[in-house]
Amino acid sequence: MRYYSLNNQSPSVDFREATLKGQAPDKGLYFPEQIPRHENTFIEQLRSFSKEEIAFRVMEPFVGNTIPKNELQRIVVETIAFPFPLYAIHEHIASLELYHGPTFAFKDVGARFMSRCLAYFSRNETKPTTILVATSGDTGGAVANGFLDVDGIEVIILYPSGKVSPVQELQLTTCGSNITALEIDGSFDDCQALVKEAFMDVDIAATMNLSSANSINVARWLSQQIYYFLAHQQWEHDEPPVISVPSGNFGNLCAGMMAYKTGLPVQHFIAACNVNDTVPAYLRTKDYQVKPSVSTLSNAMDVGNPSNFIRIMELMNQDYDSLQAMMSGYTINDETTLATIQKVYQQYGYLLDPHGAVAYAALTQYQQKNKSVRGYILETAHPVKFPEAVKRATGQEVSIPPTAIELFTKQKRSIPMQKDYASFKEYLLSN
Ligand SMILES: *Cc1c(COP(=O)(O)O)cnc(C)c1O
Repeated sequence: MRYYSLNNQSPSVDFREATLKGQAPDKGLYFPEQIPRHENTFIEQLRSFSKEEIAFRVMEPFVGNTIPKNELQRIVVETIAFPFPLYAIHEHIASLELYHGPTFAFKDVGARFMSRCLAYFSRNETKPTTILVATSGDTGGAVANGFLDVDGIEVIILYPSGKVSPVQELQLTTCGSNITALEIDGSFDDCQALVKEAFMDVDIAATMNLSSANSINVARWLSQQIYYFLAHQQWEHDEPPVISVPSGNFGNLCAGMMAYKTGLPVQHFIAACNVNDTVPAYLRTKDYQVKPSVSTLSNAMDVGNPSNFIRIMELMNQDYDSLQAMMSGYTINDETTLATIQKVYQQYGYLLDPHGAVAYAALTQYQQKNKSVRGYILETAHPVKFPEAVKRATGQEVSIPPTAIELFTKQKRSIPMQKDYASFKEYLLSN
């Protein structure tokens, strides 16, 4: 499989290079030259395959010959080493719980797959590869955990001091081993600026092997297809599901659309957004307006300029009508998000996080117009990551899962640092 740049100004590359580079030199996103098609018998007999066989079959065409079969098998087994239950909230809505991984959010899947691919691709390097990531919260934890104890990889995470939630901070700072957390006296933008400057610094390039763990990386994007297949394995109805995806940068939804294009039965997709609704507005008006982002309760979706939307358009051959036929968009504000958490808890005893609640509210609105259709939401984070919102909505403290309890017993270890580049550079060069 070859990947071309959506800016069309860089040569095509294989999966190895696309993963190592992240972004094409012309700053375009990589996109596969062909869409593979699964055999009908694979889809029809999905239940007879193991989770790991499904994951292998989904990834193999995209990886091509850049990773040998036995290595790819090991990588997918490690990637999906936790449950992906499709839980029926009621007769018409189920929840695909993607939060049973180590950092309680769906980003674990993409981060684990990408980290293991990078480790394989850099196995013969004599210098370790150093991954630099700036995080506003969720990504850092998933990346830290994904790369924990991976041979030949050092991870340095920059996070804004005092601006991440307690669970998030513990996830970033308690890994130890090959993971280092730099606590920057500044904002997320300051952290990102430091990372960008380091990537352009010739002194650093001469001594270190730097790589990024960017969310547009093909290894992260494409491996998110796996759980759509695992959901289908558990889908009990004849009609294909309507799938509601809480979306920010649209990587998750774009992976679902890729799965659909390769043969997975899907009735319709719902782009469930908070008030950062560039895509739902486009679906309503055919006018694509990038906006500055607004803070909401579902803060992992506070994105005004979703980077993966261009990939969705490419999957739809840049055709607005095909997109509209396949996808509807909904805008859900914080008030409705809280009311949804409350209602679902009271009626069904099921606790949603704010992101899952946005997806649930959107699917409910779709079902008001399309009676009796069945579907599922992607529940992208455990409610424990957003205890304040959940408490506001339900009056309940979120009970902390056992793996999180362990987190609270650990000692935070971070290196405090000023936001000036000189200190950061000195730190990098002295390690
Ligand atoms: C990142 C994130 C999202 C948004 O996913 P995209 O792929 O960027 O659309 C939704 N929910 C949670 C909990 C997230 O961390």
